[in-house]
Amino acid sequence: MIGAVDIGGTKIAVGMVDDRGTVLCKTETPTKGERGYADGLARITAMLHEVTRQAGAEISGIGIGSTGWVYPFTGEFGDVDFLPAWKGCNPVKDLERTFGVGAALENDGDAAALGEAGWGAGRGKQRLIYVTVGTGIGGGIILDGELYRGVDRSHPEVGHHVIDASGSECTCGFRGCWEALATGPAMAAWYKSNAGASGSGEELGAKEIFQLAQNGDPCARRAVERETYYLGLGLANLIGLFVPDMIVLGGSVMKSVRLEDLRGVIAQGCRFVPWEKTALALASLGEDANLIGAARAWHYRFASGTES
Ligand SMILES: [Zn+2]
Repeated sequence: MIGAVDIGGTKIAVGMVDDRGTVLCKTETPTKGERGYADGLARITAMLHEVTRQAGAEISGIGIGSTGWVYPFTGEFGDVDFLPAWKGCNPVKDLERTFGVGAALENDGDAAALGEAGWGAGRGKQRLIYVTVGTGIGGGIILDGELYRGVDRSHPEVGHHVIDASGSECTCGFRGCWEALATGPAMAAWYKSNAGASGSGEELGAKEIFQLAQNGDPCARRAVERETYYLGLGLANLIGLFVPDMIVLGGSVMKSVRLEDLRGVIAQGCRFVPWEKTALALASLGEDANLIGAARAWHYRFASGTES
């Protein structure tokens, strides 16, 4: 039974996850990074005690997934936009001391990739890329059954490859990254500035724009075409670079896009690789994907014996 901790920009979720990837119980709290590290750690500790009580089981390990720059093997937090006061702090060591069990930390994209590869849509796939599209674009890469890590075991950022160098500014320093063009908010911003007088004037999210397009709204249809094109281009790049067995697609935006339309974009290029053999599949772990992924990160680190 693993205590799973998912640290995101708006909330911190904590749950108990069994060894088949089922969430037995969970609770959450607003992130409130401005309250500092000690406050966040105290809330995580209290939530872990609470879910342990609820599940009526002993905790045998702790898995943590977090957005942003974290150091999986030292347990330290790096530069995380919404948790500046956590920089240099080490929840892995602190939670291990409190609970007397091993804890594993991963970037949440890597954690969710491990979750989908171990318990989800990508089960058994040796070459798997997980991509999640919501307010950002994140993901993780599994090669030969193992999580790919870069230099210093760093986490590669699949959302920051450039799609259109003349595109809008990105937080990373470049312009026109996949993340700058194809997230839900990027789609909403494009629709807002192009709907003009014909638009309803309301702030619409990606989901509503997909709905409007279905109802025949011409600007919304263009927004969907644009979104599909950029998503497809990014996937085509990943296929060209890795030709994986499967790309697992998670996040809110992916629930609205038609996979056959993405395939249509991919088919326009990718001539020199067997792109038809790369399956596209929707993520199967649902809204708890990050929590389940955090638990899987513990299994991957301590139970599989492939990394130390
Ligand atoms: Zn970028």
